[in-house]
Amino acid sequence: MTGQTIGNYYIHVFGCQMAEHDAEMLAGQLEERGYKPTNEQTAADIILLVTCCVRETAENKVWGLLGRLRQLKQKKPELIIAVSGCLPQQADVGENIKQRFPHVDIIFGTHNNHQLAQLLNRRQQYGQTVLDIHSGAGTVTEGVPVRRAPGIKALVTVMYGCNNFCTYCIVPYVRGRERSRKPADIVREVEELVSAGYQDITLLGQNVNSYGKELDSPCDFADLLQRLNQITGLERLRYTTSHPRDFTDKLIAVVAACDQVCENFHLPMQAGSDHILKKMNRGYNRADYLNLVEKIRHKIPGASITTDIMVGFPGETEADFKETLDIVRRVKFDSAFTFVYNIRQGTLAAKMSGAVPAEVKTSRIQQLITLQNEISLANNRNLAGAVMAVLVEGTTKNNPDRLSGRTRTNKLVFFDGKPDLVGKTVPVRINAGHMTYLDGELMNFG
Ligand code: SAH
Ligand code: SF4
Repeated sequence: MTGQTIGNYYIHVFGCQMAEHDAEMLAGQLEERGYKPTNEQTAADIILLVTCCVRETAENKVWGLLGRLRQLKQKKPELIIAVSGCLPQQADVGENIKQRFPHVDIIFGTHNNHQLAQLLNRRQQYGQTVLDIHSGAGTVTEGVPVRRAPGIKALVTVMYGCNNFCTYCIVPYVRGRERSRKPADIVREVEELVSAGYQDITLLGQNVNSYGKELDSPCDFADLLQRLNQITGLERLRYTTSHPRDFTDKLIAVVAACDQVCENFHLPMQAGSDHILKKMNRGYNRADYLNLVEKIRHKIPGASITTDIMVGFPGETEADFKETLDIVRRVKFDSAFTFVYNIRQGTLAAKMSGAVPAEVKTSRIQQLITLQNEISLANNRNLAGAVMAVLVEGTTKNNPDRLSGRTRTNKLVFFDGKPDLVGKTVPVRINAGHMTYLDGELMNFG
């Protein structure tokens, strides 16, 4: 890193953990160049938006912020505004941003995330808007500096892109085909993170179960977990997202056998009706999904299972939706991210007939959320009396003697304890379960 500060940067992330990690890489490049982070837009010399286009809501927030930044740029013409991420990666969107928001200086996509320094140079040399969106073919670039917030948790990408083409989803179009990082590069990065004090590592990919398919020397995701599990000092290993279709028996066995790999399964279900799952091109049906959940619960009792569910996919009837509610009741997910389907231009579903009216979608999402909330609360209440290993992540905002941490199953726990326990794994007895967290009490430990 250079010693001299040449300005401040402000990053706004819209989107998933993958976008968050992209932001850490972009921040790393800015810091290498001498920029320092700021939380104030008005104090920034560079404002960088890391965007997402998977759902309409995130996209609309980007347009809102870009509009508001116009004024700031008028007051401070030397301010550099950059837009990166999935959004400009969509056909014509980059050009569109350039036309609609002339105060934006640099527009680039996820495939040139590693080239921020060059893009800045080009902007500074030529004084014109730089629009540079690479296509999705891309290779994997190693060695990009990453700036992570200090703490307990860290994100590590294991693969980029997706080959699945679920019919509603824009990701394969904007993030390109699957590319895996080499196991040795991932092992080295996790080792470095562990030496730097990070204890809870999440491996990222759109479909981590496809990991390694195109590598020269064979290594599948289960093999990768086994290799990482041997790293001394690593406390917890997580991964997201795994596709229910590809969750093999081998992988379940490896998760069960590896001490560091956490017993939390995020298995996006999307819908509970065979008819809709087929139209979504998910590659499994409701029986397959229920069977997978049963296998996991049989092999790993106490595992938590979380999911993503969408309502209002084209052609979703009341009967289809009832099947989603039914499967939610059967599986009793620990928590669920719930979404209202929205059209993503260019996807196959965008051309499907049978659009569900907005008010029906709203009614369905409300019913779904109400049901899932009851289940989350009941599951958490059932944990009362259990003693769970909690990795302490920090103190609560208003009380340094009230700690917060996570169980291996990724439940948030609050309990009284001294701040010097931050970073330690301690036994906590759960006294009460609430909808989104647990209250507990520190047990004696030696
Ligand atoms: N790779 C992950 C999902 C990434 S997108 C997987 O396969 O599970 C995260 C979630 O956004 C998806 O699981 C889906 O529930 C939701 N989503 C994706 N496209 C959507 C759309 N067009 N409308 C509404 N929700 C969508
Ligand atoms: Fe999208 Fe499906 Fe790929 Fe997930 S698996 S990123 S939902 S296409």
